[in-house]
Amino acid sequence: MIFLDAAATTPVRREVLDAMWPYFTGSFGNASSHHTLGEAAAAALAGARASVAGVLGCRQGDVVFTSGGTEADNLAVKGIALARQAANPSLNRVVISAVEHPAVEESARYLERFHGFAVDVVPVDGAGQVTPNALAAVLRPETALVSIMYANNEVGTIQPIAALAERAHEHGIPFHTDAVQAAGWLPLDTKALGVDAMSISGHKLGAPKGCGMLFVRSRTRLEPVIHGGGQERGRRSGTENVAGAVGLATALTLARDRQAEEQARVAALRDRFIGAVAGGVPDAVLTGHPTERLPSIASFCFPGTSGESVLLELERHGVVCSSGSACAAGSDAPSTVLTAMGIPAEMAQTAVRFSFDASVTRGDLDLAAAAVSAAVARVKNLGAGQTR
Ligand code: PLP
Repeated sequence: MIFLDAAATTPVRREVLDAMWPYFTGSFGNASSHHTLGEAAAAALAGARASVAGVLGCRQGDVVFTSGGTEADNLAVKGIALARQAANPSLNRVVISAVEHPAVEESARYLERFHGFAVDVVPVDGAGQVTPNALAAVLRPETALVSIMYANNEVGTIQPIAALAERAHEHGIPFHTDAVQAAGWLPLDTKALGVDAMSISGHKLGAPKGCGMLFVRSRTRLEPVIHGGGQERGRRSGTENVAGAVGLATALTLARDRQAEEQARVAALRDRFIGAVAGGVPDAVLTGHPTERLPSIASFCFPGTSGESVLLELERHGVVCSSGSACAAGSDAPSTVLTAMGIPAEMAQTAVRFSFDASVTRGDLDLAAAAVSAAVARVKNLGAGQTR
């Protein structure tokens, strides 16, 4: 099988599993317990926090471990907006982009349904980017928070985060970014990015599912969304996932240390793959930004097909990929990311996303590109829909 669905999830890296193992077995303590086992767990958690803070260039106290990207996004969007509204009831609007993951979008809609917020959606251009001017146009004195993703999970487009955060700050508005897809590929220095909050998920970069984190700059007010025993300095209650935190810290450190090499190598492979797909399927349309895109994502529309049919055909050739984000899989609705980019719904139904982790090889991608031309040709011949 050639696995080209790394934006959905990645296998756990060997080094990550090795680092986690002791905290599943001998050192299995609860980090809140006042005995040696508990203290060992607390020390491991503190070590993980220090490593993560090193990668993010932030204070250790700014790191809140969560169960993953969805929880981190919920905590950022709800937690910051609600804390600001509590301090000043006139702050009752949130700004998100038109291409956010549902974890951000649905958190904003929850604020709208239950807490009297209005949601302002900033549009993207045809490449999927938010421009600083487009953001400035939707900011209001009542805006409590701006949340714009670092890189998109369907098309890989990278946002100009530092410039966008600066625009929000000119109006005194905190800025959150969902860096779930960016982590492992792009710089994560929170000072250089200028963000006040940033979400990361372990399973997109070689740590297991169910671990993640939210960076929250210390001056940013945050209302918790999970209440209980007051762990993570009261910002996220629940017995800490010590092994998960260690795994996330190890994966982030590995990614940081190898980033330059992996980014250049995978970007070159991605470009070769894009060229090969375009050669085999001349009417294929590459979606997303031509250059400001993640090394790890190549996404296309294949006119005259249905994305789902191409996926099934590709799987018969041993190539596994996705027709959009895994979260939207199974839904027949066209991708809102693609339609927000101005791609007509009919064309958006033909989308296929190929995504890679650092283990991808040239041989695999050459085989995959050949499979893509065969699959698209077959689906076109059969007529879209008949291979379902
Ligand atoms: N944000 C983005 C951009 C994602 O791609 C994903 C996962 O697909 C998430 C958030 C959710 O992360 P998790 O799967 O850790 O809940």
